[in-house]
Amino acid sequence: MSYAALDPLDVAGRVVQLLEAGRRNSTYKLATVMALIDICVENTAAPDGSLTVPIDEIAHRIIGYYWNQVRSFHRHGRLVQVRRGLSIPDRIAEVRDILISDELRTAEAARESAHPVYRRLVRSVRLRIAQQPLTHLQTVPHSATRDEFLYNAAGFHKKMTMSDVDRIAVIVLRPRVPEGLRRTSVLLRAFVRSVWAHDVIDLNRAELDAEDVDGFLFGTDRTALRALVDPLRDMQSGRCFYCDGRLQSEVHIDHVVPWSMIPIDGVANLVATDARCNLDKSASIPVQDHVTRALERQFLADVSSLTRIPVLHKRTASAAHGVYAALPAGSLLWRSSGTYQPHSP
Ligand SMILES: [Zn+2]
Repeated sequence: MSYAALDPLDVAGRVVQLLEAGRRNSTYKLATVMALIDICVENTAAPDGSLTVPIDEIAHRIIGYYWNQVRSFHRHGRLVQVRRGLSIPDRIAEVRDILISDELRTAEAARESAHPVYRRLVRSVRLRIAQQPLTHLQTVPHSATRDEFLYNAAGFHKKMTMSDVDRIAVIVLRPRVPEGLRRTSVLLRAFVRSVWAHDVIDLNRAELDAEDVDGFLFGTDRTALRALVDPLRDMQSGRCFYCDGRLQSEVHIDHVVPWSMIPIDGVANLVATDARCNLDKSASIPVQDHVTRALERQFLADVSSLTRIPVLHKRTASAAHGVYAALPAGSLLWRSSGTYQPHSP
């Protein structure tokens, strides 16, 4: 079968179709698709429109999503994400406890530290995702038909060994697929989130509120970022990053590029604000000036060494670049409390 370059909307439509079909035994497929979307937003495709994605990178992202999700969900405890057996989230939960006791509070901090426990985790996760979602991501359920419009999956199979994965090492997204995933990322991410929350409710067989579950699974872990309050407030001379008003006792930590667009817990993407600006901005995309100012701050490395939360300057910059590039002209961007400006690319 040959794969003609797809129109961006067709890429999104095909991905939706892929995820609508069949009943899932775990949320791994959804995590893998989410990872591919985020990677496409943050990276520039090759001149022919393709993008080479290391399997390691997919594993890092998946660990990042589950890292927050393995927290205890109210009185339900940890939410189940597979139909049976020991799961990737179980492994992540174990490793997370060890690393948090070492003051590595976020998945990104763990990644940057290259802690041996984290490195072992990545190796085991990449094997699982190569054997499972990457082998069957594009297989039509209950059939042997593969519709490999995203990448060529030859070489992937359910019994792959670690050395098979080492040898293959990457997937190559077909020309125009990265552009398609990037340009439809807002829609696709919302779709994947809602399916994911739905699957989790189904897998846990409990009376769970869909909105609650969505907020829990995809919201940020505020406790991990609390360490930033004092250093950021000091570095900002006690003033709100957005309105320059004096910060009172209630200081919020805001993701400049919204967490719901691209989840990055790096100091380069985090600022101290008052409650008013943070709540008003909510998940809006800010005007580009705010991102530029956030990235130009001189004290990022100092705050990072005080808190052990990584800077992630390059990732924040490229994610912001991808987000604005995918945004239609005229989209309203948040400037300040109650004030928006149209995006002019
Ligand atoms: Zn403010």
